[in-house]
Amino acid sequence: MRALITGGAGFIGSHLAEALLDAGHEVEVVDDLSTGSMENIEHLKNRHGFQYVIDSVTNEDLLAKQTDRCDVVFHLAAAVGVKLIVERPVHTIETNVHGTEVVLTQANKNSQKKKLVIVASTSEVYGKATEIPFREDADLRLGATWKHRWAYACSKALDEFLALAYWKEKELPVIVVRLFNTVGPRQTGQYGMVVPNFVKQALAGQPITVFGDGSQSRSFTYVGDVVDALMRLVDEPKAVGEVFNVGNGQEISILGLAEKIKEMTGSQSEIVKVPYDQAYGAGFEDMPRRVPDITKLQKFTGYEPKVQLTEILTRVIAHFQKG
Ligand code: UDP
Repeated sequence: MRALITGGAGFIGSHLAEALLDAGHEVEVVDDLSTGSMENIEHLKNRHGFQYVIDSVTNEDLLAKQTDRCDVVFHLAAAVGVKLIVERPVHTIETNVHGTEVVLTQANKNSQKKKLVIVASTSEVYGKATEIPFREDADLRLGATWKHRWAYACSKALDEFLALAYWKEKELPVIVVRLFNTVGPRQTGQYGMVVPNFVKQALAGQPITVFGDGSQSRSFTYVGDVVDALMRLVDEPKAVGEVFNVGNGQEISILGLAEKIKEMTGSQSEIVKVPYDQAYGAGFEDMPRRVPDITKLQKFTGYEPKVQLTEILTRVIAHFQKG
């Protein structure tokens, strides 16, 4: 198989590229390095069957050629990270909506050889839904349009609608995956993500910044488990036209996470609470809880998350200690 990974120099994309190469597939990457980096794919550059292009996923001529050469597209390129999304809402909406439009158009253009597209969506689409755990068929509950965080959820929901519309109307094979908080080595804390931020703060002896009162919870998934789920899904014909949560149901509060990281690093850091307004600007809304129901993914693919939180944190801490 030859796979195109948009956003392949990103955190998840680079892990996926490596796993596909390890499994004997060919991999082509397109990435504009907006949040990804060359460092993430440095170790892949000389691997047999690996190719990369530094450019935007919105470059239609390039995407036309790349989709022609491949059998499957993993569309991961997107504006991600709460900090980036809040600071650059125009960029977020345009990248996420237009990028997906280009990928789907190009994957669909040859009626004899339509390409399978895996569209990366997000648990953020559930918004403020309160029926825990989140099931794929649940109603979505987004906040007001002047609260820019929701632009991300909305842009990703539109990507889902568009992908499923291509399947229904044009029979383009698509699979939508809603990724829950994915963590692991190579994720940077630059765009807001909590685990790398807490680990860096703890290792540097700086205050560990818990936003809000810390009672909000998340369930973290190891990047290797996400990659495993994506690879299983492309091998499952029944997955086409479906939406899947990809995650790990183990939940922890953010304050609990801060305490765990402090303990595991042996850090002297103080845990401080920072009001949301101060962290992300006035009127910011967070989700109180976020837990996936992964029964559907398990039923279709036999997926089982293998790396649990303590081991995930051990690996992330080791990554940052290595420098
Ligand atoms: N968070 C925090 N301190 C930080 C970064 C994030 O307390 O330095 C909180 C954030 O408010 C949210 C949770 O950690 O409740 C997860 O944040 P992240 O940005 O990693 O992902 P999200 O689940 O919000 O998309």
